[in-house]
Amino acid sequence: MTAPLDPDGENVDSLPFLNYPRAGRNLLGQSKGYNCRHGYGLEFMKLTGQIACAYCGQNLVARFGDWLTMALDHVIPDAVCRKWGLPPEWSQDFTNRVLCCSACNTFGNRYAARGYITPTSLEEFYRVRDAIFVERRAAILRRRSEERAFFEKRLWET
Ligand SMILES: [Zn+2]
Repeated sequence: MTAPLDPDGENVDSLPFLNYPRAGRNLLGQSKGYNCRHGYGLEFMKLTGQIACAYCGQNLVARFGDWLTMALDHVIPDAVCRKWGLPPEWSQDFTNRVLCCSACNTFGNRYAARGYITPTSLEEFYRVRDAIFVERRAAILRRRSEERAFFEKRLWET
């Protein structure tokens, strides 16, 4: 199967979780500490081998300026997990996190999961996580594409 292309024509992996230990379908533990780049983000990268934004594919370690934008996103957002009454051991686990750039992190804000059945087992939780990831990535890439169209007007030159 060919990898889907994002609006900028960059390759986007199918699901980042497949590269996590045990294909991201067993709890991996939670993040500790308060500093992404020095603490939980670094821990996450070493555990999963991820170095690029899970949404736009931006390499976050090739250049210092990109590394500074590193964030760790909740795939099923905290607020949704709380609304569903899910245990924090699930919602805060590394398997519910993806590495991302700060722009995609912002584009993905205010996501309200609609049309999903509250997961009652870890297996269902991962099914919902995968579906929400695909939905959110599509929405984030649309926002990114709109932002690129705005950028290309180069309004600062007019
Ligand atoms: Zn990104």
